[in-house]
Amino acid sequence: MKNSKKFIDRDFILVKSSPIHGKGVFAKKAIPKGTRIIEYMGKRILKEDLPSDREKGLTSLVYVMRLDDLTAIDGEREGNDARFFNHSCMPNCEVYFFDQIPYIYAMEDIIEGAELFFDYQLGSSSEQILSLAEKIKLHPCHCGAANCRKTLIQ
Ligand SMILES: [Zn+2]
Repeated sequence: MKNSKKFIDRDFILVKSSPIHGKGVFAKKAIPKGTRIIEYMGKRILKEDLPSDREKGLTSLVYVMRLDDLTAIDGEREGNDARFFNHSCMPNCEVYFFDQIPYIYAMEDIIEGAELFFDYQLGSSSEQILSLAEKIKLHPCHCGAANCRKTLIQ
């Protein structure tokens, strides 16, 4: 099949410790703008179940991505390397959803060895009423970008 080689060539990333935070995802080779890098895999869960799942020790909530108003994806369960992407306020990747599946794309040409980031854009409707100081306290950002908004909440 003509397309099969393309998939092998999509092996663009490696995970190692990051100067920004914990582990990060890095370009194993140059990644052209527009490349679909990886699916953000994880267990689909109702948001309302997240607090009790945390109490039961099923998740730390560190790798949760919002899917819609009711549902989230927990990269800690059934996840892949995509959960190790760090946040940046000036990211080089972005997330697009197709048929309820999030994929991470390169939004610019990325050089070999660069760390990959996307903007987590945290924030449920309940968090939107917080003041900036409260947002910074809840989810601080240390990405170091010139335009850093100091919090992961949008
Ligand atoms: Zn930042």
